[in-house]
Amino acid sequence: MSSTVGFIGLGNMGGPMALNLVKAGHRVLGFDLSEAALETFVSGGGEKAGSVGDLAAASDVIVTMLPAGKHVRQIYQGEGGILESARPDTVMIDSSTIDVDSARVVSAAALEKGMTMVDAPVSGGVAGAAAGALTFMVGGPDDAFAAAKPFLDIMGKTIVHAGGAGNGQAAKICNNMILGISMIGVSEAFVLAEKLGLDAQKLFDISSTASGQCWSLTSYCPVPGPVPGSPANRDYQPGFAAAMMLKDLKLAQEAASSAGAATPLGAEAASLYTLFCNSGGEVRDFSGIVQFLRGSS
Ligand code: NAD
Repeated sequence: MSSTVGFIGLGNMGGPMALNLVKAGHRVLGFDLSEAALETFVSGGGEKAGSVGDLAAASDVIVTMLPAGKHVRQIYQGEGGILESARPDTVMIDSSTIDVDSARVVSAAALEKGMTMVDAPVSGGVAGAAAGALTFMVGGPDDAFAAAKPFLDIMGKTIVHAGGAGNGQAAKICNNMILGISMIGVSEAFVLAEKLGLDAQKLFDISSTASGQCWSLTSYCPVPGPVPGSPANRDYQPGFAAAMMLKDLKLAQEAASSAGAATPLGAEAASLYTLFCNSGGEVRDFSGIVQFLRGSS
């Protein structure tokens, strides 16, 4: 059945996600502050909405894909925002990567108005967004998950219900904290191996089948050679930019401090990625941290 979907935030991720909803036969209304983003959206078959309020009033489903928590709070709860104009039966999906506290605050405000909402951050990057192959980590009540799922299925391949409101964001930042820490660990091992005269390919062959095995080593190896598709083989062009890894590590630290969890390696990873980004690594792939650790960034 065709629905009217409102899509706010038509950037690198939101743009292709919205066009996949168009391709699936839905009427999609779009809103963005960027004229260029709107033009691409309209040329792909989307309709430009006059305002957030107009979009919200006309939509059965609303998806937001915005940079950070402050943008999400403003678009939902601010003056002229979604919650002022949407119908009570509207299904709302926030796919931005934001702090857990903001996700829970906005979701509670939606619930108070009788609306169903999920936080549904993604992994899979721009390529996954274009291919409709994203992984969605979803937080929210069962009925909201069930209502959102047919739309998430169009934009993604793997849809996981992680629990109540905010748990999608919790899953995303916990996963990316593991990733940031493990990438630093693997990179340090390759730097040490170099100093000890151990060939990188030999370390890979041994560790990829031994207890050091992990995704950062076997799927995304930070040195050129062992995994031909990894960004190390194309001078660390992203991929997943170090600036985005730093954003997620900072969100993990905010959440850890607000929840009283001890995450000393997460804190150290955030410090190292801050240094890497400040020394020019911001736009490079996050696996380029190996060059920073080697002292050659
Ligand atoms: P982006 O900057 O390309 O897009 C964000 C869009 O939101 C922009 O077009 C901007 O104009 C628009 N916007 C900002 N404030 C707005 C407002 N008040 N009203 C309307 N539009 C507004 O960012 P992106 O790469 O698409 O990322 C979006 C979200 O997805 C972020 O939270 C990011 O962390 C997350 N994410 C990105 C990737 C990736 O690889 N790019 C991967 C996973 C998750």
